Amino acid sequence: MAYLTTPKLAFPVDPYVVNGLPFGKRAEYNGATWGVHLGEDLVVPAGTDVRVIGRGTVVYAALHPGTEEKGNWGHVVIIRHKRPRSRNGIFYSLYGHLGTTFKRIGEKVDCGEPLGFIGEANTPENGFWPAHLHFAISIGPFKDEVLPGYWKEGETRTQPEWWVVPSEFIRGYEEKKN
Ligand SMILES: [Zn+2]
Repeated sequence: MAYLTTPKLAFPVDPYVVNGLPFGKRAEYNGATWGVHLGEDLVVPAGTDVRVIGRGTVVYAALHPGTEEKGNWGHVVIIRHKRPRSRNGIFYSLYGHLGTTFKRIGEKVDCGEPLGFIGEANTPENGFWPAHLHFAISIGPFKDEVLPGYWKEGETRTQPEWWVVPSEFIRGYEEKKN
């Protein structure tokens, strides 16, 4: 399959302010350890537009409904990107806790396109959390299933080194061979 290349990146919400859980922080909810946070949380009002960070292809879009007993992703979208002129420059952007998404698996998307909006707090559609965006970038493998938001010892679906600090990655992104 041919990969769309991604010449530039932009932030998914504007302004981009990490005022929730930062990347790499260990989190506990209701006394249970969730592990190391693999993305950045932005507390923004329900209804806020979330935009595609760069050209690519939607590889995952699904609703993982939450309940009062068990928080979940709500609507979550994953987009595959590729650095131009690189042999191994595939990476994935992940957007969680959307109230809905306009995108479907297989759709080609471009930088700045609206992909959905932040869901209402404590609804099945937002995964039953306060209204926020969980935004993450993975440079690891993708196996057609949703990626975790946290890593803890024994977690086999992902590794912490497969994730980067999303805001730093976007700021440092440029077209180059790597
Ligand atoms: Zn998060």
